[in-house]
Amino acid sequence: MHFIDRENFEEAPISILEKLKNSELNKKWAEYNSARINKTKKPKKPESAWNRDVIRNPLKMLFLKNCGYCGIHTDIGHDAQVDHFFPTSKDETAKYVFEWTNYVWSCSSCNRQKSNNEPFLNPCSSEEMEYIYFDYTDGYYRCKNGTPPDIISKYNLTNQKSKFNSLKRPESRELLYKGVQSDLKKIDRYYRLYKLESKIHGNKSVEAKKKEKILKSKKQDVIKRIYAGHFLFLINFLIKKHTKNNKTFPYTFQELLDESKYLKNN
Ligand SMILES: [Zn+2]
Repeated sequence: MHFIDRENFEEAPISILEKLKNSELNKKWAEYNSARINKTKKPKKPESAWNRDVIRNPLKMLFLKNCGYCGIHTDIGHDAQVDHFFPTSKDETAKYVFEWTNYVWSCSSCNRQKSNNEPFLNPCSSEEMEYIYFDYTDGYYRCKNGTPPDIISKYNLTNQKSKFNSLKRPESRELLYKGVQSDLKKIDRYYRLYKLESKIHGNKSVEAKKKEKILKSKKQDVIKRIYAGHFLFLINFLIKKHTKNNKTFPYTFQELLDESKYLKNN
């Protein structure tokens, strides 16, 4: 699990949700949830307006079409859903029906497993996610030393229900990690060689063009991994980390993501 930065996401459908909050539909949901909580006769179930494309699509983009809990690519044989992080079937959180910050893009398995189980780790909470790290040696997500007990119990529940550390997921992430690391090193190497050849012989020289061609093919290797759509927040994290340590790295995750056209492909 990686932190998903909701704060800096510009396409959030806030005004649409504000309208919904002030609508009849919100009142209907309040009545419906109240009946559900108090176990009285429920009125007809109102429209699940969070499933409208205007809300669903931006959320899908924010989560890069990956499940917020287990990290799998939700377009491949999985029916992804808008999960209410704080359940609307509970008294204290029933009011968060049309709250953008309460939506998590979730695969159907995680959503079903999560149900009313609380509390899960919130992938959009930097306070919680700062305690979780990716272990390079085996592809597991683990808690850092000194993690507060309440976060550990959220981690354990989320792990148990979403199975982010089972079903061969750690093995897949370890493999992905090794592949991406190797691609990034090759890009660095050929970018340096290209710059060097360009400096000595000019960027139109045969040698510079040769290096540029290899550089492009190495870049395509990362783009292919992005296009495959698995664990994209891990790839983003690895590229950021690599760029921090190698200031001359020529690409950002966003550029590679855009070039992959992954988000455009539905
Ligand atoms: Zn999932």
